[in-house]
Amino acid sequence: MECQYSSCSVTCHRCGHAWIYMGSRLSSLSRTRRKVRIGCPRCYAKVELLAEGAR
Ligand SMILES: [Zn+2]
Repeated sequence: MECQYSSCSVTCHRCGHAWIYMGSRLSSLSRTRRKVRIGCPRCYAKVELLAEGAR
């Protein structure tokens, strides 16, 4: 199955950390309308991946 996105810019709502996510959950983002959450590498909050930030 082909992945639509290769990277996604994410900003943590808790600590404000911004980074580019390039992991495997991107394929879930392109496949489902459900919310896809990843852990912030700095504070470990669950941050939602948004399709608007994906490329
Ligand atoms: Zn954070």
